[in-house]
Amino acid sequence: MKDIIVQKFGGTSVADTDKIKNVAKAVIRERALGNDVIVVVSAMGHTTDYLVKMAKEISETPSSREMDMLLSTGEGVSIALLAMALQAQGCPAVSMNAMQVGIMTEKVHSKARIVDIKTDKIRQHLDKGEVVVVAGFQGVTEDFEITTLGRGGSDTSAVALAGALKAKRCDIYTDVEGVYTTDPRVVPTASRLEEISYEEMLELARVGANVLHPRAVETAKQYNVPLRVRSTFKLENLGTLILGVEDMELHKPVTGVASDLSQLRVVVCDVKDNPGTAAVLFNGLAEQNISVDMIIQSYARKALNTNDIAFTIDKGDLDKTLDILEKVKAELEFSNVFVDDKIAKISIVGAGMIDRPGIAATMFKTLADLGINIKMISTSEIKISCIVAEDEAKQAVIGLHKIFHLDCDEIAEVKGDLPDLD
Ligand code: ADP
Ligand code: ASP
Ligand code: MG
Repeated sequence: MKDIIVQKFGGTSVADTDKIKNVAKAVIRERALGNDVIVVVSAMGHTTDYLVKMAKEISETPSSREMDMLLSTGEGVSIALLAMALQAQGCPAVSMNAMQVGIMTEKVHSKARIVDIKTDKIRQHLDKGEVVVVAGFQGVTEDFEITTLGRGGSDTSAVALAGALKAKRCDIYTDVEGVYTTDPRVVPTASRLEEISYEEMLELARVGANVLHPRAVETAKQYNVPLRVRSTFKLENLGTLILGVEDMELHKPVTGVASDLSQLRVVVCDVKDNPGTAAVLFNGLAEQNISVDMIIQSYARKALNTNDIAFTIDKGDLDKTLDILEKVKAELEFSNVFVDDKIAKISIVGAGMIDRPGIAATMFKTLADLGINIKMISTSEIKISCIVAEDEAKQAVIGLHKIFHLDCDEIAEVKGDLPDLD
C-alpha cells in the first residue's frame, strides 16, 4: 500500500487561478514520489473576510447557522478549481466537500469540533488512482447541518484527515517558509525554526502565532501526525517540522514570541466579595459558549466587602458578555463595567523556561525599560503572557525577541547544533 500524504494550501496559496495551477504542480510533484495524495484547500485569498463583510452589511447580528452556510461556500470554489487544474495537467482528481467526505462535527456553529471522519469514500477514490481535493474549514452534523471550525480551521481539517487516514505526514503549505521565532512579517529578523515540539507549537498557536490553527496542533499531537509548515512558493525548502521531541533547543529558555490583538479586557468593579460570585459570572459566560482567557480578581477591600474581577475575551464576544453582565447585575451588585478594547497580549513560549528562574523577571524588566505598562499577567509551565496597550505591541515583541536571543544572527550559531532533517 502506498503512503498517504496530506497537503494543505492556505488562502494566499490559492489566491488566483495562476496560483491554483501552481498548487496543482506541487500536488503532482508529491504524487510523482509514489504517494497517495489528499489535498485540503482554504478559500481563495481574502474570500472569507469578504463574505463576513457582506453578511455584516446585511445584518448586524446574522444567525450563526447562516454564517456557516455562507462561509463554507469559499472552500467550495477552490476545491472545484484545483480539481480542474489537476485534471487539466493530466492528473486524475476529484473534489469533495465535508458532507461528501463525512467530516462529522458537533452541533455548534462557527467553532465546531470534529468528532469523526469517514474514510471509505476517500479511500475508494485513492484506490482509483485519484488525488482527492477536500474542502477545509467545513464540517457536517449528524442531521446534515453545515458547520465551520473557526477562522484558520482548514489546518485542523488537514491534520484530522491525516490522523483518520493514518497519513505518513501532513504538510501545511503557506506564504512563509516555516514557523519562525515570531511573526516574520512583524519582525524581519525572526529566525526560522528547523523543529519545534507539539507542546511549544500548541502554546505559540494559542497565544497568537496564527501560522497554525491551535486545534490542528492539538490533533497532530493526539494522533501523532508528523506535521510540517512549509512554503508554497519554495517547494524545495523543508520548512519546520513539528513533532514530539521535548528537549529541543533547551539551551534557550524561550523558543518564540507572539502577540494577539484579538482580545479585549472587561473589568467588573466593586463586586461583592461573597462565595459564588465568580461562579455566577463565569457560568453565565460559559452557557453562552464564551471563552474567557485571563482572569484576575483583585485583593478584597475588607471594609467594603468588595473587589474587582477583570477578564479577557474575544472582541467578537463583547455584546453577548455585556448582555450577560446586565442580567447578573442585581445578583452581583457590582458598581460598573469598564471595557478596554485597545489591548494586546504579548507572550513568550519555551519548554526551556521550566525550572529556570528569572525568565518572568527578564520579561517584565524588558517591558519596563521600554516604558510599557503591564495590565495583566498570566503564566503556565512553558508560557508567560502580559496584557499591554495595543499600540505598544510591536515594540514589546521586538524588545523581547532581542533580549531572549532569537534574532536570526544569533540563532544561526545555534542551528549548527540541530540534527539534520531527512
Ligand atoms: P494561510 O492562509 O496559508 O493559512 P495564515 O495567514 O493563516 O496563512 O498563516 C501564515 C501567516 O502567519 C504568515 O504570513 C505570518 O505572517 C503569520 N505568523 C504569525 N506568527 C508566525 C510565526 N511564529 N511563524 C510564521 N508565521 C507566523
Ligand atoms: N477560509 C477560512 C478562513 O479564512 C479557513 C482557513 O483559511 O483556514 O479563516
Ligand atoms: Mg491559516
